[in-house]
Amino acid sequence: MALGKIEHLGIAVADLEASEILFQKLLGTAPYKRERVDSEGVETSFFLAGPNKIELLAATHPNSPIQHFLEKNGEGIHHVAFQVDNLQEEIQRLKNEGFIVLNDPPKPGADGKLIAFLHPKTSGRVLVELCQDLSQP
Ligand code: ZN
Repeated sequence: MALGKIEHLGIAVADLEASEILFQKLLGTAPYKRERVDSEGVETSFFLAGPNKIELLAATHPNSPIQHFLEKNGEGIHHVAFQVDNLQEEIQRLKNEGFIVLNDPPKPGADGKLIAFLHPKTSGRVLVELCQDLSQP
């Protein structure tokens, strides 16, 4: 078992409209979808740059984890998401390796994914998201 490719980079933003304009200029392409994830308190906007996916994340309420992140760190890279084939098996493998898994069982995320986060204090201060594509068998 191992992690797969980087599925996307998550970027925390204060103002989704303003950041969509900025990233549209930067990447030369418009966002392909917006999705609100109420369980996470976020509104997301997705871009494709070549094979790479960028997820902008804005808080939808003051207690959103994204709002806490913005207050502490300001805007910028929030998490790195890796694709996995079998999320439950990866969660078990990483727990056995001493990582703290924040979502076990995993939960539904944006863009048709089943997701789990690792606590950054056990992963080199990088918030790591694992995601399994639910549209794949
Ligand atoms: Zn993500």
